[in-house]
Amino acid sequence: MINGDVRDLKIQTKVVHGFKGYDEHTGAISYPIYQSATFRHPGLNQTTGYDYSRLQNPTREELENTIALLENGKYGFAFSSGMAAVSTVLKLFDPGDHIVVSDDLYGGTYRIFGEVFSKYGIQFSYVDTSETGQIQNSIKPNTKAVFIETPTNPMMKVADIRAAAQITRSKGIQLIVDNTFLTPLYQRPLELGADIVLHSGTKYLGGHNDTLAGLVVVNDQQTAEKIKLIQKSEGAVLSPFDSWLILRGIKTLGIRLEKQQKNAMEIAYWLRTQNKIDKVYYAGLPDHKGYEISKAQADGFGAMISFTVKDKNLVEQILGRVKLIIFAESLGGVESLITYPLVQTHAAIPQEIRERIGVNDRLLRLSVGIEAADDLINDLKQALE
Ligand code: PLP
Repeated sequence: MINGDVRDLKIQTKVVHGFKGYDEHTGAISYPIYQSATFRHPGLNQTTGYDYSRLQNPTREELENTIALLENGKYGFAFSSGMAAVSTVLKLFDPGDHIVVSDDLYGGTYRIFGEVFSKYGIQFSYVDTSETGQIQNSIKPNTKAVFIETPTNPMMKVADIRAAAQITRSKGIQLIVDNTFLTPLYQRPLELGADIVLHSGTKYLGGHNDTLAGLVVVNDQQTAEKIKLIQKSEGAVLSPFDSWLILRGIKTLGIRLEKQQKNAMEIAYWLRTQNKIDKVYYAGLPDHKGYEISKAQADGFGAMISFTVKDKNLVEQILGRVKLIIFAESLGGVESLITYPLVQTHAAIPQEIRERIGVNDRLLRLSVGIEAADDLINDLKQALE
């Protein structure tokens, strides 16, 4: 551990050193992978603090403490995927509870709400959470939470987290923010009044498209105890090796995301000059509806861009012709990926909601990587010609 209070350090430093910074037993600066399912008890009724890896594991604990540190929260939890994190958070609620949700959100989240949790009596309303008034108007007597993605996936709408938190606080309900797109490097929802932050760690935190992970951070002790109970009972925990991969990924989050954002900005401006492109959705463009809110609540705009082509036949052409940019699901890694949300990430969303939010047959989503911006632009240029 670095001398002084680690919480006072800048986020760019925190990501490099993590919570402990090194292994206290050996001095190893790469935190060890404690690949053990179980731990020897020193004696009857004695424990080293670790008994069984579903309950706790030192490598996972270092990651859990690191994500809590980065989000400026008290309690962190690591799961086997982002969806396992979403699922755990949803289990904090009871049959009959109602949750207000962003209508534009990752298709898998939509699917687990509609096809899994609805069966257990949890009700959902899908609204445009970039309009604070719509959140306010959707609150019912049995509403227990507001769940937002911001920026949203894939339409990049920005919700005002402070304004949403004012509403949830006044009603005594929880504000849950999926912070996957901006990461704590650029946005820390707990500081803005949210109660629960979650991540697909598979994306920017891992950063290398090599593993799945989910993370949750909270401040409230009671909520933390409930999450811990679900985590250890269900066992959808992150393995020691995957915890280590995410810890290693986080070390370079600062420089990766900064470069990704720089590339994204260049590409977004270039796309706007192309006559075969219709609309470009990127929160870093000054005429984006959420630009001012983004500046007020986040330290960056991220590196996710969506755009529509004028002619839908161009979609297949682009996906077939890109050479450097990879046609694949997922986002946030060092390699640039292009996705067709209609048939991939957002296929689980009913047509009427897809049409309302703008996920149509001309929309493509680009996760910008750390390659040279010129090479990415040249790749898109030859794919569009
Ligand atoms: N949240 C967002 C915003 C996502 O984009 C994703 C996956 O794409 C998830 C959650 C789910 O995460 P995972 O794929 O790690 O289960």
